[in-house]
Amino acid sequence: MENFVKEFDSYFQNFSFKEREKQIDKVDKKEFDIVIIGGGITGAGIAREAAIRGYSFCLVDKEDFAFGTSSKSSKLAHGGFRYLAQGEIKLVRESTTERNWLASALPNLVRPLGFVVNAYEGGKDSLSKIKIAVFLYDLISNFLSKYKNKNKHRYLTADKILEMEPEVKKEGLLGGAIYYDTNVDDSRLTIETIKDALAIAKSKKIDSYAFSYCRFIGFDKDENNYKLVYVQDRIGGLTHTIRGKVVINATGIWIDETLEKANIKQKFIRPTKGVHLIVKRQRLGNNNAFGLRSIDDGRFFFVIRRENYSYIGTTDTDYNENLDEPVCEKKDCDYLLNTINYVFPKANITYKDIISAYAGVRPLILEEGKSESAVSRKHIIYDHSNRFITIGGGKLTIFRKMAEDTILFLQKKGYIEQTKLKKNKLQSNKFKRNKRNISKKDYLIALKEKIIYKEELNKVGITRDYFDYCIRQYGKGAFIIFDYIIKNLDLGKRFIDDYILTKAEVVYHFNYEMALTISDILERRTETNCHLHYEKQRQLAEKIASFLIDFYGFNNDELKKQVEDYCERIDKNTRFLRENL
Ligand SMILES: Cc1cc2nc3c(=O)[nH]c(=O)nc-3n(C[C@H](O)[C@H](O)[C@H](O)COP(=O)(O)OP(=O)(O)OC[C@H]3O[C@@H](n4cnc5c(N)ncnc54)[C@H](O)[C@@H]3O)c2cc1C
Repeated sequence: MENFVKEFDSYFQNFSFKEREKQIDKVDKKEFDIVIIGGGITGAGIAREAAIRGYSFCLVDKEDFAFGTSSKSSKLAHGGFRYLAQGEIKLVRESTTERNWLASALPNLVRPLGFVVNAYEGGKDSLSKIKIAVFLYDLISNFLSKYKNKNKHRYLTADKILEMEPEVKKEGLLGGAIYYDTNVDDSRLTIETIKDALAIAKSKKIDSYAFSYCRFIGFDKDENNYKLVYVQDRIGGLTHTIRGKVVINATGIWIDETLEKANIKQKFIRPTKGVHLIVKRQRLGNNNAFGLRSIDDGRFFFVIRRENYSYIGTTDTDYNENLDEPVCEKKDCDYLLNTINYVFPKANITYKDIISAYAGVRPLILEEGKSESAVSRKHIIYDHSNRFITIGGGKLTIFRKMAEDTILFLQKKGYIEQTKLKKNKLQSNKFKRNKRNISKKDYLIALKEKIIYKEELNKVGITRDYFDYCIRQYGKGAFIIFDYIIKNLDLGKRFIDDYILTKAEVVYHFNYEMALTISDILERRTETNCHLHYEKQRQLAEKIASFLIDFYGFNNDELKKQVEDYCERIDKNTRFLRENL
């Protein structure tokens, strides 16, 4: 264990709140190949791809990493089953390829999930259409692919569906099929990608950095034609100048706002909002995920099984309000529940059953005259011809492809030198072989064969369930958490009895994952904002605040403010529930 801790520390010690000030003070004196604005999955992927190909990078985000859409998605690495109906075969091939790679590279974070699709009498989708769709979906995914989806679709009779899913509506059920996509933790994927980028850069001795709470405010160039990127450090309060050969605008729904700051007058983004409701899975009674059609407008949406929870979503409506704080409203919730209670009639889900809700905004590319759902999910790379590049659109699932396209684009334009790595070849498929991440074999052993788990761990309070949860969440980082607990039993304690989060995890987030606030822990290092009932959130946030004051000596007033900020966001997303109970 000691050797592992040392090795882990050598890669990730700089990604600690303790090192931040020292690190940020260095950047004004450096010259980077690539400056990346935006630390969502798009920016994170570009940083990782840059590191793999030997380029230095400096990435900044105005908030926490994954603050934007990359923590508010449906949390699926998926091929886009519904895009088949829109004839987007190329996009489905690209997405399924990336999904399959992700599932093999990060098995703890990207886990197979079966989706049941049912045909009903008089419904929009006939049984034969569903059968053809699931067949094509797997064919597009697996035909001549290096990475295949090993979980094959199956056709289901009505009786079989009712045996597997006794809670679904029986009347008029003709049969259906099950196909497989994957669950992913979107914000953890983003943070792990940034960590991987930094670790790869470090192993190649290339100075590279990633800073959260560091806002892009303006742009210029110096006499050597280096781009000067001005950023404001929201923690230290200083303004810094970062020099780069090229600047990437990867700010998702804020792309147009960022362009304005760079004095570029162009519009790319059509923001559309999507919400999710979360209920306990046993309450809805589903055993798998479901692809459903809304009974109101025929739109496709999901019930997603995530461990003991069911996520219901999403919606897709044009959005022109505050990009920083989209919220779930009563009308969004009613739209989803209407269909849920039709398809799961015995469950009779009401507002009382909803434990949390969240809203995200899609960074779709403007396409005149199309409805929200019909806008393509393709990505674009745009050169503003002053070494300022915008990348937008796309999906979480295809972040590696988007990153590779961006780097190849920069090479082709001559903005960065060619490296020895071959062109047009996916170079970044090495999460799997990267010793810093858990391998599929380790993961399967840990979860299925129960070999890694040693009964002695029970003596220090690490139960089998907690062990599995940590491996899923943190990969090999889980062993750092276990090490903390072995050395200090108090760190193994939960903050509140009925929620799994322990003190050791919070220490890990601060020491190795650049967490800086309570929201960073509860919304992006874990899914606490989704999994703990909204009425208990304040109690937990206050306990964490007290712990941080005692353990690290953090400032009391600052922590109080962080608790209020977090609770306010939870309140906004659940206000309609409290007002209508
Ligand atoms: C409801 C919903 C469900 C979805 N479900 C899925 C799904 O299941 N699977 C899938 O593959 N895709 C899904 N998507 C799409 C996917 O989530 C997005 O395509 C992806 O997360 C976008 O990532 P991004 O990095 O481009 O943007 P973001 O994640 O929004 O990142 C942009 C970052 O830029 C930062 N920023 C903004 N301005 C500045 C500034 N001035 N200075 C510094 N930083 C700045 C922001 O703080 C933010 O962190 C979904 C989207 C939505 C809305």
